[in-house]
Amino acid sequence: MSPASLTPIPFNRPHIADNQLDYLSVSVREGFTSGDGPFTRRATRLLRELTGAPHAMLTTSCTHALEMSALLLGLRPGDEVITPSFAFVSSASAFALRGAVPVFLDCRPDTLNIDEHRIEAAITGRTRAIVVLHYAGVACEMEVIGKIAERYGLAVVEDNAHGFGGSYRGRPLGSFGGMATLSFHATKNVQCGEGGALLVADPAVAERAEIIREKGTDRSRYFRGQVDKYRWLDIGSSYLLSDVLAAQLTAQLESFGRIQARRHAVWDAYHEGLADWAAEHGVSQPVVPEGCGHPAHLYYLLLPDLANRQGLITHLAGAGVQAAFHYQPLHAAPAGRRYGRTAPDGCPVTENIADRLVRLPLFADLDEGAVARVVEAVTGYVVR
Ligand SMILES: *Cc1c(COP(=O)(O)O)cnc(C)c1O
Repeated sequence: MSPASLTPIPFNRPHIADNQLDYLSVSVREGFTSGDGPFTRRATRLLRELTGAPHAMLTTSCTHALEMSALLLGLRPGDEVITPSFAFVSSASAFALRGAVPVFLDCRPDTLNIDEHRIEAAITGRTRAIVVLHYAGVACEMEVIGKIAERYGLAVVEDNAHGFGGSYRGRPLGSFGGMATLSFHATKNVQCGEGGALLVADPAVAERAEIIREKGTDRSRYFRGQVDKYRWLDIGSSYLLSDVLAAQLTAQLESFGRIQARRHAVWDAYHEGLADWAAEHGVSQPVVPEGCGHPAHLYYLLLPDLANRQGLITHLAGAGVQAAFHYQPLHAAPAGRRYGRTAPDGCPVTENIADRLVRLPLFADLDEGAVARVVEAVTGYVVR
């Protein structure tokens, strides 16, 4: 068979969970389509069970949950937030939006997570928080980071968009920072198109988060019958997820175990099937340190250089396999330069790996035949 006759393998295809379409139609038919309806309550309960978080709130996106965390921290113009340069824009822009200065830190060459050994040198009198992103759902060194945060009185916010279902030394990711955010965007393990959540440890912070999420009002308390009218109490915005989306999210969360089993099977097949080829061609596979349970969010390879990374993407496209590079360093981006500052040591590792990284298709409905085709296509590439 010529490659052209094969069905293309997309980079991602959102999984449709059992009951997802039923719940969707129930939600639409019963007419509770705005936020905080019956499905939001169900999804929130499931989320608390799966993450162990004392307080969880569904939001319109992970970006908005990060914006909420910036509001909850009471950040003021000129405050500084230490954040990885190798990250999605939201873990910097959410704080810049409050006038805070993202201070970009380099990543570790093995896990591609924020380099915990560089954090202390980036702390100044204006530092207020450390933002961590568990890249590919592999945990940052939370023990070291937690100690630094405690010593300097800094908040820790976990951008846990990749790490839902992951763990560090037996504890779920998202339970280390005072606040953690999740994404249910179409590209994530559990998805409802667009959506997110804020996980909060402290009840007083959760109480304020509930107000910020409801336009700065105590409308949530009003709906629970705890106050007889709702009033404007704080600044805030509209961060509620529609119950139509929460309905789909409920079904996804109920299928979490099955989705994860399937994703792990794909991840493991890549890891095993590509090991010899990677070793032979000087290609690095993901590193999962002892004590890290990863949720098979993404599978990536580090090619020796940019030319080979592009070469592999083109080679795979020719075989009908859609592969993708990932984050471009935030410290070097136009808005990163304008609103942020690079930590004194610069971000040489980030600049290096951003050019060499490629992600392979990984989704729950990728069947064994397709996985075998991806492995065959990758191993057919000769590094030059
Ligand atoms: C997907 C993602 C986000 C943004 O999520 P949205 O729900 O689309 O706002 C933020 N951070 C990371 C690390 C992500 O992967």
